[in-house]
Amino acid sequence: MVKKDDYHHRGMRKKMIEGLMAKGITNQKVMNAMMAIPRHFFIDNAFAKLIYEDKAFPIGSDQTISAPFTVAYQSQILNVQKRLKILEVGTGSGYQAAILAELGGRVYTVERQGKLYKKTSKFLAQFSPGIRCFYRDGFLGLPEFAPFDRIIVTAGAVEIPEKLKSQLAIGGIMVIPVGEKTQRMIRIIRQAESKFLLEKMENFRFVPFLKGKV
Ligand code: SAH
Repeated sequence: MVKKDDYHHRGMRKKMIEGLMAKGITNQKVMNAMMAIPRHFFIDNAFAKLIYEDKAFPIGSDQTISAPFTVAYQSQILNVQKRLKILEVGTGSGYQAAILAELGGRVYTVERQGKLYKKTSKFLAQFSPGIRCFYRDGFLGLPEFAPFDRIIVTAGAVEIPEKLKSQLAIGGIMVIPVGEKTQRMIRIIRQAESKFLLEKMENFRFVPFLKGKV
């Protein structure tokens, strides 16, 4: 690994965690994971000093790494437990995937931007080799590995893709931001084969979940 993680970075991370807790994040396991993973490894050096602020930053291909609060919030409401099989849609920088893996999840992540997929899958192969990366259209999910105990979508969707719902295990949880300009975080719990409980949560702003073009 070329990048280093020193006391200075850890200090900024500690401050970031304190800020997230002040904003209402309560899950200690999520906070520990975000303390353990050096967020600055996931972006270009130009942003290294700013990356611990609660903001989204560009990662190339017109995409962004989600802000720390968004990552913490989605991870918290996903209720990750050790060994659960998790599908992430929108690998991006790989940061959210690394947090899910740190929480003990078995992570499968899909990305539709070729350049990002190449760069991030190479990085994650070193940083967190258990994470499985795929170059795919997330609308289709990963049927060959379904069902998933958890599904997390990290791009703003205009609708909830049926194919993703069908890949959720019974008792499983999906978290997906839905909306055009801003998105409402939706949590779906699959209670039975065709019974889905839908909860509407906070508002966020994500880059769009784009259909097709892979
Ligand atoms: N989880 C990422 C956030 C990246 S932003 C991180 O931690 O950095 C959302 C990502 O979703 C972008 O990389 C974008 O290219 C990807 N995306 C958008 N539509 C997609 C689709 N249909 N299938 C897979 N990935 C998609």
